[in-house]
Amino acid sequence: MARIHLLSPRLANQIAAGEVVERPANIVKELVENALDAGASRIDIDAEQGGIKLLRIRDDGFGIDKDDLSLALSRHATSKIITLDDLEAVDSLGFRGEALASISSVTRLTLTSHARDAEEAWSVSVEGRDMQASVSPAAHPVGTTVEVRDLFFNTPARRKFLRTEKTEFSHLEEYVKRLALSRYDVAFSLRHNGRTIHQLRPAERGIEKEKRVASLLSAEFIDSAVHIETEAAGLSLQGWVGLPTFSRSQADMQYFFVNGRVVRDKLVVHAIKQAYRDVLYHGRHPAFVLYLTLDPKLVDVNVHPTKHEVRFRDGRLVHDFLFRTLHRALGDVRPEDRLAGTT
Ligand code: ADP
Ligand code: MG
Repeated sequence: MARIHLLSPRLANQIAAGEVVERPANIVKELVENALDAGASRIDIDAEQGGIKLLRIRDDGFGIDKDDLSLALSRHATSKIITLDDLEAVDSLGFRGEALASISSVTRLTLTSHARDAEEAWSVSVEGRDMQASVSPAAHPVGTTVEVRDLFFNTPARRKFLRTEKTEFSHLEEYVKRLALSRYDVAFSLRHNGRTIHQLRPAERGIEKEKRVASLLSAEFIDSAVHIETEAAGLSLQGWVGLPTFSRSQADMQYFFVNGRVVRDKLVVHAIKQAYRDVLYHGRHPAFVLYLTLDPKLVDVNVHPTKHEVRFRDGRLVHDFLFRTLHRALGDVRPEDRLAGTT
């Protein structure tokens, strides 16, 4: 009979990495979220070969203390929560303390940081966590850079599941779009193989926000979109919905945020679909960028590890609010309605 033994920390992390890191896009998401949690006002993302060869995420956030650098790479190591009460009130994007541990178990990772109140910057490198992490001095302005090379170099079986460079990059870019649409106050840049793909300045005023949306999605979208700004019963909805004339053959331009987090939720999708039902041809999909804001107590965002699903306390209320708001907004441009209005 086989004896029971504890998994080595390295193997445990590699197994856990399976849940967090499937492809470069997941790494970008985790690292950019860390940068946002650190209060960054600018985030620069560099990718090579679809992010498989290299990902470098640099921020100007509050940084990591020298003494915490190695700890940051350990599993269940987080500065974001201490108690169960904190978990219930968590407002940071991360809190599981798993991302850096998982990522560093399947890549060659260098973490360099200059803490806001420190004199110098420090750096720590690990290769698949085989070796003891040692901290050495570095040059870096206040903030943090995480450099990740050779994804899955030590787990060839998982490397085989990666797609082409182009496909991996498009997944990665998709996450960057979502993150950039979630924080207009933060400057973002994205480069791929030395080429600038997105360069976004902080956007404060409406017109600047529209510029960001246009540059991330397309100018045509924003030109043919209705601006939404409605509040009712403690719910607020803002953003842009594409006119039926800007419909898509795929559901590939649909961004929905709940309290700032991107969400893919059945109830939300259903409400929006219903609102578009009689203005879109069968098989066509609407385009939208929408922000729903509500009391955080009325929504649970911790349903799923990747946090894409939410649970509304009053789903019906949310559904009706979305449906009515969009139906009314689209009603103003509904051709039948216009015809009906003239007779
Ligand atoms: P989590 O984000 O869930 O806490 P991570 O593994 O992503 O876990 O990060 C571990 C810890 O490392 C964070 O709690 C934070 O203290 C620190 N950290 C990671 N990235 C950054 C960053 N870019 N700036 C400042 N601190 C960071
Ligand atoms: Mg994190």
